[in-house]
Order: sequence, then C-alpha cells, then structure tokens
Amino acid sequence: MNDLSDLYQEIIMDHRRNPRNEGLPAEHTHTAEGFNPFCGDKVSVGLKIKDGSITEVGFTGEGCAISLASASLMTEAVSGKSVDEAISSFQGFRALLTDGDGDVPDGIDLGDLEALAGVRAYPTRIKCAILSWHTLKSALDNKSAPVTTE
Ligand code: ZN
Repeated sequence: MNDLSDLYQEIIMDHRRNPRNEGLPAEHTHTAEGFNPFCGDKVSVGLKIKDGSITEVGFTGEGCAISLASASLMTEAVSGKSVDEAISSFQGFRALLTDGDGDVPDGIDLGDLEALAGVRAYPTRIKCAILSWHTLKSALDNKSAPVTTE
C-alpha cells in the first residue's frame, strides 16, 4: 500500500511541476473561472468544443499543489472526450472523493485521477481537488458567473 501511495504522490508532484495544458486555448468556445475561498485557490478553464467533443482544453491557476495538480490531471482526463464522457468523469471523480466508500460508478475509468483518492481523508483538501472539475462543469454549462466551492 505504501508503494501505491508513493506512486500517487509522484503523479501529483509530476503534474504540479510540469502542468499539462497550461494556458487557455486561443480559440476557446467555453470558459469559466473557479475560486476556493477556503484555500485561496483560483482556476480558469477554457474549452474548445466541436461536434460535442472537447478538442482542446487548458487551464490557468494559482493556489496549492493539490488544486493545480488536479487541474492538470483534469485537462488530461477530458481532452479529446465527448462532453458526456467528461461529465461522467466528473461524476466518477466526485464519487471517488466524496462518496461514503469511494466507489466509482461502473463503467468509469479514472486512470491517473485515482492518484488523488488519498485526498478523501482530508475534507478541506477535497475542495482544492474538485475545484477545477466544478469549473469545467461550469464552462460546459456556459455559465458566466464565477463558481466557488461553496
Ligand atoms: Zn487548495
């Protein structure tokens, strides 16, 4: 089990040091901003959606390591996916962090997102980890008002 958590730590630190998809796509069709007042994390997510698929995704952010690593992992998880698949991933990730036993619904493969499973033991950090996903959802819904984790 220790080996597994070391691997997860490595994935999180790797995404923190080398964020994937940093910067909003130049021609994004959807965008949203999110804020987690408990930690001060801020993230913006931009999407280019064509024919129901996320063809480009990017983020900018400032905040703690968990919030930024999670944003980077989120962009990798949804890049190239259909909007429906991205929403399924969000639901699966939310279940991983917040459902009683952490069971992810059948048919959802979270891949590297599982690296953040350990966050479920720290309720205040769950908001950090899920901020970018709420922001993604807001961008998909094309809401213009900034979202917060409250
Ligand atoms: Zn945070």
